[in-house]
Amino acid sequence: MKNIPKVYCASIATETNTFSPLKTNMKNFKEAFFAKPNHHPSTPTLCSALFPLLRKKNRKNEIKLIEGTATWAEPGGLIDSKTWNDLKKLILKEIKNAGKLDIVLLGLHGAMIAKNCVDCEGDLVKNIRKIVGPNVVIGATFDPHSHLSKKFITNTNILTVFKEFPHTDFVETAKNCINLSIKTFNKNIKPKISVFDVKMMTILPTSKEPMRSFVDKIKLLENKSPILSISVIHGFMAGDSPDLGAKLVVITDSKKKYGDKISYELGMSLFNKRKNLAPKSFSATNSLKEAKKLSKKNKKPILIADIWDNPGGGVPGDSTTLIKKAISMKLKNIALGSIWDPLAVKLCHKAGENKEINLNFGSKIMKESGGAIHKKVFVKKIKKNVYQKFGSSLVPMGDSACIIFDGIEVVLNSNRCQTFSTDLFSKLGINISKKNIIIVKSTNHFYKSFKPHVSEIIYASIDGIYPNNPKKNKYIKLKRKIWPIVSNPHQ
Ligand SMILES: [Zn+2]
Repeated sequence: MKNIPKVYCASIATETNTFSPLKTNMKNFKEAFFAKPNHHPSTPTLCSALFPLLRKKNRKNEIKLIEGTATWAEPGGLIDSKTWNDLKKLILKEIKNAGKLDIVLLGLHGAMIAKNCVDCEGDLVKNIRKIVGPNVVIGATFDPHSHLSKKFITNTNILTVFKEFPHTDFVETAKNCINLSIKTFNKNIKPKISVFDVKMMTILPTSKEPMRSFVDKIKLLENKSPILSISVIHGFMAGDSPDLGAKLVVITDSKKKYGDKISYELGMSLFNKRKNLAPKSFSATNSLKEAKKLSKKNKKPILIADIWDNPGGGVPGDSTTLIKKAISMKLKNIALGSIWDPLAVKLCHKAGENKEINLNFGSKIMKESGGAIHKKVFVKKIKKNVYQKFGSSLVPMGDSACIIFDGIEVVLNSNRCQTFSTDLFSKLGINISKKNIIIVKSTNHFYKSFKPHVSEIIYASIDGIYPNNPKKNKYIKLKRKIWPIVSNPHQ
């Protein structure tokens, strides 16, 4: 008779920007996404795609599933010690109460840092291993914007990481993690993890070359025995961690030496492309000038991505720098989505649609984010509990509003989130196809949804909001030598 594994599954995830003025506590987890055991929604979230996939296997009697807690906090600053201790305790208690387990699967982000713990994921798996012993399979999924520690790898059997940035493959990543973990339980494979430290920190969008070809290449290699899985950790420059930076992860079927060789070769080939990986970016003024010029030649709108005012990277997401520049340049027919300002949203909702009000909005948290805008605005649309789609997941924007002034339409939202899809505009009554310029706040997750609707994409790099230069960031925990802080750390 077939041996049915007993599987426990949980998800705790956030991405900690240790330089952010926003702190992260239990309230932030509870407000963003918190599903008690057996209460996970039927749709996946970015870091919890394991749940719906495992339920399917459970229904087919391929596994016996014990569902644990799944929670996510919108990226922000350091997690307070009590919140981390409580979350960890919660998961460990669920595992103890689950009785004898065969597999533990974790949907993690990989860049979670608490005041009392610089490596939350490593700490979590180490404690889980203590409870379940050496023979239980532990598998996990990571976001590539993470810090991979030795502690984490030592205590884990399987790690799969989203290959795409934008992370459009989060469901596939969870599927691979589940399949490899079950194969390990059935003793069909003996996974050995090799990690190569690329010693590099930059941004690696896979929507452009040279990353596009690199990802396609590793996908092909994954089909070649004894390789079971290949992942690239991109690193997260806003998190001061001893493990900061890119890593190349290769899992082989009991061929550790071969895995070491492949991870070294791929890692060095990535390192050699380091200067061409990040997209070309413009200042605020130049990005608008460029967009103005291009919009005259193209029918479809020009998109400007405000890449560093991205709540997905742990900053507030309420910068007004670009929009203020657009006002001063007298640019018209622009849509911007979105500015996080719960108070301004409340005032718009109170006023109602088709009303004109005096509004003070944006830039409420950091002095570097442009300063608030005071305007007489027209409230075009108000809406409660708005969601935008990202792949098969739904991202809550909270109550939102669309305001108009000076030929500019702006989406204001009350739940901090980056721009994932064109929904963000259409749900608030904005027809982006009619605009000259669209401004979004996101590093690259917007790409897939917006690309068909725009003629050009301009990446605007506005300094001051986000610690976007590893050479200037004041890291204390990072002690390893990495590029670009040193020119060649591999020498
Ligand atoms: Zn990410």
